[in-house]
Amino acid sequence: MKIAIREAKSIITKSNIPSIDFVINPYTGCQHGCIYCYAEFMIRFTGHKGDKWGEFLDIKTFDFDKIKPQKYNGKRLLFSSVTDPYIPLELKYQNTKRILEKLISTTAHVSILTKSKFVVRDIDIFKKFDDLEVGISISTLDENFAKIVEKGASRPIERLDALKEIHENGIKTYTFISPFFPYITDYKAIVKKTLDYTDSYMFENLNFRPHNVPRILKIIENHYPRLLPIYQKFRRDNSLWEKIESEIDAYCKELNLVYKIEFHHGGFSKS
Ligand code: SF4
Repeated sequence: MKIAIREAKSIITKSNIPSIDFVINPYTGCQHGCIYCYAEFMIRFTGHKGDKWGEFLDIKTFDFDKIKPQKYNGKRLLFSSVTDPYIPLELKYQNTKRILEKLISTTAHVSILTKSKFVVRDIDIFKKFDDLEVGISISTLDENFAKIVEKGASRPIERLDALKEIHENGIKTYTFISPFFPYITDYKAIVKKTLDYTDSYMFENLNFRPHNVPRILKIIENHYPRLLPIYQKFRRDNSLWEKIESEIDAYCKELNLVYKIEFHHGGFSKS
């Protein structure tokens, strides 16, 4: 991992994500290095041309005392959009923790989204917020598949344990079933495992982007060869998602879940 310390001009930035006003990315780059990551475009904008996504990390430096929690009252804040706030190196550099501590008195709605077991470190800080929820992002319960597509993230079982611990501490939680891999993501199994300790669900489809298509298809070819023609179809025909979307919708209604399906068909997508 190539690590650099870089001064950031700002640390809480306006967002173009629907329903999110500001995003907070304490790092540039992400140790998790997911093969489908939509944030890989950051390589171009941050002077990392030639670097490989998942193999560099800039630790942002910023005068955190400049953060004014009241400025965000009534707004919606998300940690994070182009990195994971609880990458392993957060344990050392603690940028996420330091930013959170500065925001404690805000009445903003704060959402934390992660694929990391290390999120439990900050439970005591989460408890000090008026309106905060923690989401765990998960696309599969299959340890082997997770290792292939999200090699640096915590194991699925560790993420679920973290979700449980956070919920048991009285913090609002959500399960973000994303990205949804057609015929691989067993969303019903994930729902069953999390039902007792999640307040709501979100679903997002796998977005094919020029940079991730060859990697995704290669993995499908190697590990699920019978699905390769199906994935090639999904890549070309967005209407195929509609069937999955209605199945999820019917299932969630049947179980009376609080849920949101964010199938964008190639449009906006986040970590
Ligand atoms: S998808 Fe999220 S966790 Fe994975 S590499 Fe991208 S930013 Fe990191």
